[in-house]
Amino acid sequence: MPTATKRKPQYPADQNDEVLPGGPKIVSSPLVKVRRSKVHGNGVFAVKPIKKGTRIIEYLGDRVSHKAADKRYEGHDENDNHTFLFIVDKRTLIDAGVRGNAARFINHKCEANCESEIEDQRVFIDAIRNIKPGEELGYDYQIGREKDDPPNVDEIFACRCGAKTCRGTMLYPAKRPVARKKKVSKKKSAKKKPTKKSGKTKAGKRKQAGR
Ligand SMILES: [Zn+2]
Repeated sequence: MPTATKRKPQYPADQNDEVLPGGPKIVSSPLVKVRRSKVHGNGVFAVKPIKKGTRIIEYLGDRVSHKAADKRYEGHDENDNHTFLFIVDKRTLIDAGVRGNAARFINHKCEANCESEIEDQRVFIDAIRNIKPGEELGYDYQIGREKDDPPNVDEIFACRCGAKTCRGTMLYPAKRPVARKKKVSKKKSAKKKPTKKSGKTKAGKRKQAGR
């Protein structure tokens, strides 16, 4: 006899349910389109006025565990600052590199006009102010720092958004929290090329919702 369960549906990591808690996926939006951005690669731009508070699009992609994402991006060039991974919670990430939608092209912006919201273990992009047609969408990526970040991580994820309030980085916290490492001499750093085979370096940086 089947027992009725009143528990809220939850996404298991490593599973891509089509039945979503909280309603259908917001796959695309008539409010925006993807085109080349001056800031970084492709960007997402408003094509119509977007009112503050509008839920614009959902951040979609493969739902995987952190471990699975590590494995998936093992060979990823750590100097590449494109990142499609978004942290949902401790167990789950969304990898927009696989089955992702236009939301993955929304660039980081320090002077954000959008923010990422997590609801029912889903990630949504909402307007936090009125946005005019032609304006590029952006939110603060708040990419988490890891112990095993490459020494040039601040260079890789430097922000050049051009805003007056630019905080200079897509990383969070902005400054390295631990005591700074001593500068390595050129000779040494040349010898110590980063190796990617051990899987020790966390492959593929992750965006996360604001705090
Ligand atoms: Zn910036």
